[in-house]
Amino acid sequence: DDNSNTKNIPMDRKESPVVRGVSDTVVGVLGGGQLGKMLCQAASRMAVKVMVLDPLADCPAGSVAFRHVVGSFDDGDTVESFAKRCGVLTVEIEHVDAVTLERLERQGVDCQPKASTIQIIQDKYLQKLHFSQHGIPLADFMQVDDTESVKKAGDMFGYPLMIKSKKLAYDGRGNAVARSQEEISSAVSALGGYGRGLYVEKWAPFVKELSVIVARGRDNSMSCYPVVETIHKDNICHIVEAPANVTEQVKNLSIDIAKKAVDSLEGAGVFAVELFLTSDGQVLLNEVAPRPHNSGHHTIESCYTSQYEQHVRAVLGLPLGDPSMKVPAAIMYNILGEDEGEPGFYLANQLMKRALSIPGASIHWYGKPVTPRVAIIMGSDSDLPVMKDAAIVLDSFGVPYEVSIV
Ligand code: ADP
Ligand code: MG
Repeated sequence: DDNSNTKNIPMDRKESPVVRGVSDTVVGVLGGGQLGKMLCQAASRMAVKVMVLDPLADCPAGSVAFRHVVGSFDDGDTVESFAKRCGVLTVEIEHVDAVTLERLERQGVDCQPKASTIQIIQDKYLQKLHFSQHGIPLADFMQVDDTESVKKAGDMFGYPLMIKSKKLAYDGRGNAVARSQEEISSAVSALGGYGRGLYVEKWAPFVKELSVIVARGRDNSMSCYPVVETIHKDNICHIVEAPANVTEQVKNLSIDIAKKAVDSLEGAGVFAVELFLTSDGQVLLNEVAPRPHNSGHHTIESCYTSQYEQHVRAVLGLPLGDPSMKVPAAIMYNILGEDEGEPGFYLANQLMKRALSIPGASIHWYGKPVTPRVAIIMGSDSDLPVMKDAAIVLDSFGVPYEVSIV
């Protein structure tokens, strides 16, 4: 009979408030960059309203957000008044005013992930301390305040020595390598001096960099995306191969470490765990991002639920989606405009047109106002031909690329 589809709907539904999408909670996002943009796109498919807070009038997320509030996510008063307009508050960047978030949380504002997580993650030294206290394998590290202490670290850890800024680091800005004791002072001054707050890390002799995106729902359920390999160029994520071409053992170890790391942090959302694989099969944690991550762009095309949709589901307390891949393999190729303005945009335009001629390739225009950035994601349903096509195009972009069939 034609009642069969409706018999499970509660009888009092007429008294329920009108919900137009899957949720009528407004999601507030601190930051309106490319990750915020992709988050808005995923949310909009489910009719979830996303408000972004970003100081740039032409920020990438601005054109796709339900609402864009122009203002600084690092200013307490601005964050406070923004938070009061949202049902749940989340981030697409960790460099936000975490002290204000903690205060707002005490006043009942719903932050996902929790302010404590943002506070730990945004200070890389604090982050390392936190994970080492939770028994997660990491490269040795040490706080430094002057040249003497860096020299001491160099004696202990050897060279090259990685010197890092504790805060406001991204795309390798915030890292400097000293290849010998003589290079300490130039590396430190490249980072802006000791006053910026520095620490050092022992060099991790990795053979591959891996990344695992872990989602946690409000009910503490966890769900992991397949382990991917990330290849950096000038410290910026350049190529992502999904799944990573590593043994099952390495995959399982990576997932165990990623889950353990996320388990030590509070709140719902997706978390990206960056890892180093060493030649002897050890996996070390590099850092965690408490948000969607560029190693997960490929999930838009290659997985049943993208990391962006998963983040929205997680922070709203909706059921988590299936993170598994719906194609055997995918490659994400990140194109960074090298020239600002006209020439850069012209080149990006040409590259995008070329990419559109590849079967299985999708382009994602990041919407950066000054320098173009595009992600090209290629899913493969029959591995060989598509990956080969991909390789030809990647070659024509001027970057040699070896095809690896997974
Ligand atoms: P960012 O915040 O810019 O991503 P990371 O700390 O992740 O900074 O470092 C950027 C890149 O630098 C890493 O992806 C890795 O390639 C390299 N790197 C970072 N730490 C180390 C280390 N201890 N040893 C060797 N390489 C490192
Ligand atoms: Mg990193």
